[in-house]
Amino acid sequence: MLLSLIKILAFVAAVAGLTWGAARLTDVTGGAEIAMAGYEVTLGPLQLVLAIALLALLGWLLFKALGLLLALLHFINGDDTAVSRWFSRSRERKGYKALGDGLVALAAGEGEAAMAKGRKAERYLRRPEITSILVAQGAELVGDRKTAEGAYRDLVKIDRTRFVGVRGLMRQRLAEGDTDTAMKLAQKAFELKPRHVETQDTLLRLQAEAHDWSGARATLEAKRRSGALPRNVVRRRDAVLALSEARDVIDETASIEMREKAIEANRLSPDLIPAAVMAARSYLAVGNTRYATRVIRKAWEAEPHPDLAQVFAEIAPEEDAQARLKRFSVLLKARPDHPETRMLEAELMIAAEQFNEARRALGDLVETDPTARVLTLMAAIERGRGADDAVVRGWLTRALTAPRGPQWVCENCHNVHPHWEPVCSNCHAFDTLGWTRPAESGTTLPRGTEMLPLIVGGGVGRAEAPVPAVAEVREAGATASPLPARDAAASMPRTNGDKEMDEAEIVVPQGDKTAARSEAEVVTEGRK
Ligand SMILES: [Zn+2]
Repeated sequence: MLLSLIKILAFVAAVAGLTWGAARLTDVTGGAEIAMAGYEVTLGPLQLVLAIALLALLGWLLFKALGLLLALLHFINGDDTAVSRWFSRSRERKGYKALGDGLVALAAGEGEAAMAKGRKAERYLRRPEITSILVAQGAELVGDRKTAEGAYRDLVKIDRTRFVGVRGLMRQRLAEGDTDTAMKLAQKAFELKPRHVETQDTLLRLQAEAHDWSGARATLEAKRRSGALPRNVVRRRDAVLALSEARDVIDETASIEMREKAIEANRLSPDLIPAAVMAARSYLAVGNTRYATRVIRKAWEAEPHPDLAQVFAEIAPEEDAQARLKRFSVLLKARPDHPETRMLEAELMIAAEQFNEARRALGDLVETDPTARVLTLMAAIERGRGADDAVVRGWLTRALTAPRGPQWVCENCHNVHPHWEPVCSNCHAFDTLGWTRPAESGTTLPRGTEMLPLIVGGGVGRAEAPVPAVAEVREAGATASPLPARDAAASMPRTNGDKEMDEAEIVVPQGDKTAARSEAEVVTEGRK
């Protein structure tokens, strides 16, 4: 407000000053007489001032024209940008304005506007390495695949932006599910920028999915060199890859190579359970029971796991239950308080028909951690101790709805896997499976819990199934069983349950409408 007032006042003052000056000039007598080449001009004072102003303007114009002339001379000399430079100042200004507007549009999520501004900027600037990025990003924002691909292809042609183009095309192929082409592009991108973390991860994931384990190990090595991963993670991932390599080799029955790879994987990461299992089996294949025992014991010390116990049983498949109990004491002493150790001890005791000792081995697990397996073992113990059928069924009924305990769960998507895999089958992430407890929400059978005692109590329940299994165990325990003890003792009722529950677990978290139906199926299957 004040500023505009001052402006108005200054304008009035200037006009007044000029008028006054002009009036004074007309009052002044005399002037300038210019005589040149026979002509004589007489200028009044006002005319003189105007003439000087006109001269200044002419001088300026001449100066500009000289610049243009100079540019023209350069142009004639061969410098073809000189003229365009002369003319392109305003184009450049417009171009950069369009570019700026495009970036703002991109940030605002207006893809169409970003594309339009990008094209406009390209018309003025002729700099595809910048404008194509804008067009590509805008096109991706609105899902215009074709335009985006065209822009990325333009970027591939320019040295500076080749990586950007390849990465863009790779992401498009990934989104389309064309993993073969995506892998080729990822390899190209990796060549261009070996230290780019996202490219490393994508390539590693694609290679793992394609079972290109040696390629994946090379990528992992590059990742280690660039320092993007902690040392222990690299070792574990390398172990996972070595193990996967070994697993694939098994299919081709090249046993020596498999042994070496499995043993290498176990050496790289002794706590990787599947590696320990495979290494122990490869030692067993050459009759080296001492090394097999050592591998299993080491892994058990790190993380007790039923698969380890199973392989440990395979070391001496012909032994009787007492001998087995004695041999297993190596494992039982390693982690005595771990639930897995206690369950293993109870299973061995059941096989040896020492039911009271089995109950003692379980200890307070029934109260503190009543998983389906613990409760099934309780049923077997009660059965062995000669308890009433109703008591046995009671335990089995509880087992049906109890939490499943630890399983192979993907850390990334929480999908439950029946076996360990290097790549999650659900989200395709690499090395995300851990032996943990899955989230139990929605896995129990809400209506089934109330109904099952009625069903099972009626004498036609699924409790019928495990009873002969337990009887078999007692027979098997007396004679030498070719099967590992835990398989016979507990896994018959358990694996049945696992299968049914796994289905429910996979279906329920997806919010699928079939969830209710699958629950019903579990119940009816149980009733059969
Ligand atoms: Zn997953």
